[in-house]
Amino acid sequence: MKIDYIALSIPIFFLLIGVELLFGFLQNKKLYRFNDALTNINLGTGSQIVGLMVKGFFFLAYLYLYEHRVYTFENSWLTWLLLFLGVDFFYYWFHRMSHEVNALWAAHIVHHQSEDYNLSVALRQSWFQGWFSWVFYLPLAVVGFDPIMFVAMNSFNTLYQFWIHTTTIRSLGPLEWVFNTPSHHRVHHGSNPKYIDKNHAGSLIIWDRFFGTFQKEEEEVIYGITKPLNSWNPIWANFHYWQELWEMAKSSQGFDKVRVFLKPPGWQPAYLGGFQAPEEIDLTTYKKYDYDGLRQDHVYVFFMFLLALGLATAVLFLKSSIEIIPLYATMFYLLVMLGITGGLMENRAWLIPAEYARIISTLLVALLFWQHPDFNLIMRGTSILVLVNLIWFSRVVKQIRTQSNAILH
Ligand SMILES: [Zn+2]
Ligand SMILES: [Zn+2]
Repeated sequence: MKIDYIALSIPIFFLLIGVELLFGFLQNKKLYRFNDALTNINLGTGSQIVGLMVKGFFFLAYLYLYEHRVYTFENSWLTWLLLFLGVDFFYYWFHRMSHEVNALWAAHIVHHQSEDYNLSVALRQSWFQGWFSWVFYLPLAVVGFDPIMFVAMNSFNTLYQFWIHTTTIRSLGPLEWVFNTPSHHRVHHGSNPKYIDKNHAGSLIIWDRFFGTFQKEEEEVIYGITKPLNSWNPIWANFHYWQELWEMAKSSQGFDKVRVFLKPPGWQPAYLGGFQAPEEIDLTTYKKYDYDGLRQDHVYVFFMFLLALGLATAVLFLKSSIEIIPLYATMFYLLVMLGITGGLMENRAWLIPAEYARIISTLLVALLFWQHPDFNLIMRGTSILVLVNLIWFSRVVKQIRTQSNAILH
């Protein structure tokens, strides 16, 4: 049976985030910012939802190649060890390519946008990376690693990378030689020029040491990307670099229009100014993006966040028992909700009609299925919740309008 290890790990993620929050609190360090952490987790939620659309295809491709394999690895400890090394090796190359090819970076960039570094950053994942990352692992199917074993090992590799997104662990002594650690991965998230495109490892740092991309953590790491995203909107986070590439392709000539997508980040045709090397960060003027919306919206934003998280978790666990149209409709609804939450955190003018439209359409769906024998209880519960939501949101809007006409933009 194919088990969704990532979905099963959700409670552990939140437990560890709670531990890190508590640690920061006890040490009097501000490790998390409300808006940044919420955006990170919302991006993780969206990534799992969008990922559902393609995971099945990937598994079929893997299965097809496995059926035409050249060898069969029997289930033994040696096979597990080889598979561990194999998955980690291909992860290194997938990850390195994601940093060195613009079209792949356009997806992977999402994981690097946060200017903080804490466990919630581990959940900040691109919505579209999963559409191509699987191609890198197909050689493992051809040489004969069992698909179920592969899924388990690939999940392990992803889960391993959760705990290394922390500043609370400084160094792990001799383990730093072999394993990817918080220190090595902090370097990977740095926007300081010397840290860019270094330490692409998954579980083992040996690949970076071997292929020449290793960098030790030295001066303080400044987290994020060289041109900050400056937004809490998860949809924009997934598309901003595509737009940048598209604009560059439009002003390029001839084959350069294609080259833009294949070259590394920073590349530009000579007639547009040539390669743009990352610049040293001036710590005296450096400031994190910190738009904080309205304080009184925080509770509503948190409510939206919990609603999306709860609904997404339900979809992940119940996906096989939901029919395709309601499943896709719910997935689309969830993505819209994540976008609106981002809009609310930035006090965007469009958020008011968008959120009213979301609430009213939810109410209409609940009323439509009011009598449905399978759903009547859920729909009645939903209707009450939506009515409360409607009243609450109208009060939030009143506050936004009376206190911040100028802030809506
Ligand atoms: Zn990366
Ligand atoms: Zn990371």
